[in-house]
Order: sequence, then C-alpha cells, then structure tokens
Amino acid sequence: MNKDEPLMPKLPKDPNKMLICEIYQSIQGEGPQMGLPSAFVRVTGCPLRCKWCDETRALYDGTVMTIDEIVEKVASLPPRNVCLTGGEPLAHKQAGTLMERLARAGYNVLLETNGAMPLDGVPRLPGIAISMDIKCPSSGMEKRMRFENLKQLKKEDQVKFVVADRRDYIYAKEIMGKYEIPCAIVFQPEGGRNMLPLVSWVIEDGLDVRVLPQLHKIIWGDKKGV
Ligand code: SF4
Repeated sequence: MNKDEPLMPKLPKDPNKMLICEIYQSIQGEGPQMGLPSAFVRVTGCPLRCKWCDETRALYDGTVMTIDEIVEKVASLPPRNVCLTGGEPLAHKQAGTLMERLARAGYNVLLETNGAMPLDGVPRLPGIAISMDIKCPSSGMEKRMRFENLKQLKKEDQVKFVVADRRDYIYAKEIMGKYEIPCAIVFQPEGGRNMLPLVSWVIEDGLDVRVLPQLHKIIWGDKKGV
C-alpha cells in the first residue's frame, strides 16, 4: 500500500453502478456458510487499513459494473449462496440495493463487513445475514469499531474476531464481557491456519465461541479468486 494513495478509490455516484474487484465461485471459507459452494462478489475500496489485510487487491483495483450486470454474473454461476465481501461492501451506498435484488431472487446472502460502518442500509429481509468483524489491537483498527452496531445484529448473524496473538485474545474476551452479542461468535486465527494456541486458550477458559480456520487457505493456500 502506498501511503500517498487516497484511502478510498473513486466510487461511482450512479445508484445503479458499483466498483467491483471480482466475481467468482468457490467454497465459503469462513463463518455460518463455511463449506458451502458460494458466489463471491468482492467490491473495491475499504476505509480501513488493517495491518494484516490479506485483500489489498480489493483496496483500489476494480471494474465499474451495473447492478444488473452483477446480478447477471451471479446468476451465471451455479451456487445459491452469495457472499458480498471486499474491500468493504458498506462503503458503497448501492450495497443495500444489490443485497435486496439478490435476496428477492432467492439467494442466501452473507454480507461481510468490517465493523466500522453503520448497518442502517442493510435490508433485513429473510435470506440476508451479516458477518461483522470486530477488529482486535493487532489490526491497528480497533478504535474504529462501531460497537453500537451490535444492537442491530440478529440471531442469524455472526461476529468475527481475527486473533493474531494473546493480546488480541484478551481484548476479544473483554469485548464479550462488556457488550451483549446476540449471535454466534467466531474466533479466527490471523492467517487462517495456525489454530493451536487459540484453541488451547478457548478450551482453557471455556469460552462459548466457535474457533474456525479459513477453509480456503487450507485448500488453496494464499491463492486468490479460487
Ligand atoms: S477491513 Fe478487510 S479489506 Fe479493509 S483493510 Fe481490513 S482486512 Fe483489508
């Protein structure tokens, strides 16, 4: 990342257009739809800069597509599950329209959001679930979290902590003690694969959380868009 580059790329102002990094099909590697074949709509642009961001391609590179073109591309792929990810989908004011179009077309839509964006524009229709990150200190972005979002989450949603070290783990535990979290909580090791320290800490403390790897990294390593 070049520090002289603007934080966000220029996004389309047209309510029917979005800047898209890629659309592809794969196996969902994280969260409530883990293991299910899914179409991924990855938008371009994110207002955060996590120190360990593994999707830097999605910070600037993209193609402008109409919402019709996005829906058509998703419809050309077999999966009935769609993950709207990024980048940060909610940095695009058109994200709500896209989610609604997909949900009304019968898709199960999972929105992955970074925890720093208001959730007000998310249509709470059947079939739409939210996976919201809470960034821990290793990300350098923990002060950007909107904890008031937790009140808007529902049972079908999830909160995800990416845990890089013991300090992150203690922080995540403190957040769980401080706020009511109305949905499943996932602890994911930073990097997606080294599960052992995190698993030991969770077992030792008897925490009611799911410890999950990133399945796609176990299957394909760091290869992108698969
Ligand atoms: S929120 Fe996600 S896309 Fe944005 S910088 Fe952090 S890891 Fe990267």
